[in-house]
Amino acid sequence: MHVAMFSTKGYDKTFFESANEKYGHEIAYLEARLTKDTTSLAENYQAVCVFVNDILDAEVLRNLSGKKISSIALRCAGFNNVDIKAADELGIKVVRVPAYSPHAVAEHTVGLMLALNRKIHRAYARVREANFALEGLLGFDMRGKTVGIIGTGKIGQCVAELLHGFGCKLLAHDPYPNESLKDMGVEYVKLSELFSSSDIITLHCPLMPETHHIIDDSAIRMMKEGVMLINTSRGALVDTPDVIEGLKGGKIGYLGLDVYEEEGDLFFEDLSEKVIQDDVFSRLLTFPNVIVTGHQAFFTVEAMKSIAETTLANISTIEKGEPCDNEVTVDFIKS
Ligand code: NAD
Repeated sequence: MHVAMFSTKGYDKTFFESANEKYGHEIAYLEARLTKDTTSLAENYQAVCVFVNDILDAEVLRNLSGKKISSIALRCAGFNNVDIKAADELGIKVVRVPAYSPHAVAEHTVGLMLALNRKIHRAYARVREANFALEGLLGFDMRGKTVGIIGTGKIGQCVAELLHGFGCKLLAHDPYPNESLKDMGVEYVKLSELFSSSDIITLHCPLMPETHHIIDDSAIRMMKEGVMLINTSRGALVDTPDVIEGLKGGKIGYLGLDVYEEEGDLFFEDLSEKVIQDDVFSRLLTFPNVIVTGHQAFFTVEAMKSIAETTLANISTIEKGEPCDNEVTVDFIKS
């Protein structure tokens, strides 16, 4: 297939070129993000390949359909940036990579927990200034702490398994409890109980209307004083201004983010020479007890290989007119 790949970085090209030796698709690697202003770049292609911050709302999809784009290959698991109903109506197939390395995201999640707890970000800066004082670096044992996991699908399960190894007590909330986690001792509870009983809360559910701003002022008020909050899932699960108030008041003692609601204008770019215009994001960076990474939780060699392989296999399956297990439709979402 002739594929226009949007939001391409050098590392995408490296992994896709290598995997494509087997598939032989013709891929144009475009740096531009897909928005309504860049759909013209998809002219003369059959498929577009997109990532987390490309925008595929109804208007963009109509434009793509007019340019004879018949397939959208997401090179990620989440599909909240695609209007699936509009794609269905236009007859555009949407495929994704449901699992590439849940371990990559889970390990980064636990990495954020440990870095915040033991203040490794601050220790790193201090030691480079020959400051070996320990004041302000006091942490806590993970063993025995209660961790609340919201969403126990592939990534949430891996997080639970890692934290089980640390000796944490695990609470979870998910409309579809995971039986193997129950066997491991994970206790499924109501969201309000998870909020009020957890020392650490970590988000691993998808972004949907029901989960939008699942962490807001009312949720924060239920939490323990000094709670640690981690979000490596999707930015809009968290109401950032409410979280900032929680940090200012001390209710939230630690915040680790790999995703941010307005990350589309920030992440994946080197903005070190620019003035950041997003004051909410800039405020986040001023707190000593906040660590933000720029949507890198997925970014391991294993995950990148798997993303490239599955994306190209998805495109080949569609090209052959065969049913694709990784297709996302309105019926799939309802199920
Ligand atoms: P998954 O589909 O395997 O699991 C999601 C789980 O969330 C499911 O068990 C589902 O039942 C549960 N869920 C749905 N609604 C819920 C609700 N209201 N409350 C609690 N749980 C709910 O997905 P996954 O592979 O584990 O990925 C989880 C999320 O991680 C993705 O949606 C994506 O947004 C994010 N992600 C982030 C990165 C990154 O690099 N930061 C990489 C991959 C995925």
